[in-house]
Amino acid sequence: NRPMKKHNFSAGPCILPESVMKKAAEAVVELDGSGLSLIEISHRSPAFVDIMERARSLVLELMQLEGKGYEVLFLQGGASLEFLMVAYNLLEKRAGYINTGTWSDKAIKEARIFGEVVEVASSGESGFNHIPKGFDIPAGLDYLHLTSNNTIFGTQFKDFPKGDAPLIADMSSDIFSRVIDYSQFDLIYAGAQKNMGPAGTTLVVVKPEVLGRVSRKIPSMLDYQVHIAKDSMFNTPPVFAVYTSLLTLEWLRDLGGVAAIEEQNEKKAKLLYSEVDLNPLFEGYAAKEDRSLMNATFNLTRPELKETFDAMWKEAGINGLNGHRSVGGYRASMYNALPLESVGVLVDVMSDLERKA
Ligand code: PLP
Repeated sequence: NRPMKKHNFSAGPCILPESVMKKAAEAVVELDGSGLSLIEISHRSPAFVDIMERARSLVLELMQLEGKGYEVLFLQGGASLEFLMVAYNLLEKRAGYINTGTWSDKAIKEARIFGEVVEVASSGESGFNHIPKGFDIPAGLDYLHLTSNNTIFGTQFKDFPKGDAPLIADMSSDIFSRVIDYSQFDLIYAGAQKNMGPAGTTLVVVKPEVLGRVSRKIPSMLDYQVHIAKDSMFNTPPVFAVYTSLLTLEWLRDLGGVAAIEEQNEKKAKLLYSEVDLNPLFEGYAAKEDRSLMNATFNLTRPELKETFDAMWKEAGINGLNGHRSVGGYRASMYNALPLESVGVLVDVMSDLERKA
């Protein structure tokens, strides 16, 4: 039902269901018969407070974290601000980081401003093409941080390390995409803009007991405890991004929740990776067992076919298939809202190339 729309495999900023985009657009004109636009209604009005509350509680419902002592915040500054907020709020002496490439690297760089960072494991020596395994976690860490899905290299943790330290995850590119036990984490953060909403808000889900343990003073805007005390409304919230996130979360709930979307995501990934593996013109980048359901990275085995292949997928109405500038090749991002049908179109183009070559 999107004849004019492209098959959007772009890694971001965001891909949302068309129904959500339409409702969000309508709300910008007028929020539910209120006579005011979503972006002009007071964020302290009962209508917006209700939106914020519904969004926060739906996050817990979808993650099956209700009643488990978590707080939900919608902040600003993107996941990039969380790189430093996490360390500001939790790093007293030593923190552990698992380095799976670019985003972990950036988180490590910020954390080093606040204390000692132990790189517990890294897949850097092999171009971040896999998730490190079988490493020891040193004792006495303030926390252990990982990136659940590496958007650029197309690797994804399937199991998570267990240890004594609080576990923190940047889930920017796979939040709400698969069923995992979210309660193994003490703090989860994610820029909204892949699976949840437009850029402009960052989701933080945190167990308050891991906070308040550092000795430094924390500026109010960077202090999780301040945001918790103010129910995520310490300052003017990004109303459009929060409302649109709520609409996406409602869409996900009505679809059957995270388990239902995981089934679709697995179908999409299976379809694409099968083609990558069977078609001799393509080879995957990431180690098979660590392949991401969200971002599939692959290369042409005959680089001279690049021009032909690029022309073919563009002709088929596909958008955003180029790999990240730091790795090249191709990357098909298959976020929650990307229809299976779009993956079918891509796979057809890939097999057409094999026929032609
Ligand atoms: N972490 C991951 C895993 C990402 O994929 C991204 C962006 O794509 C970021 C962090 C940075 O997010 P932001 O642009 O919201 O700061």
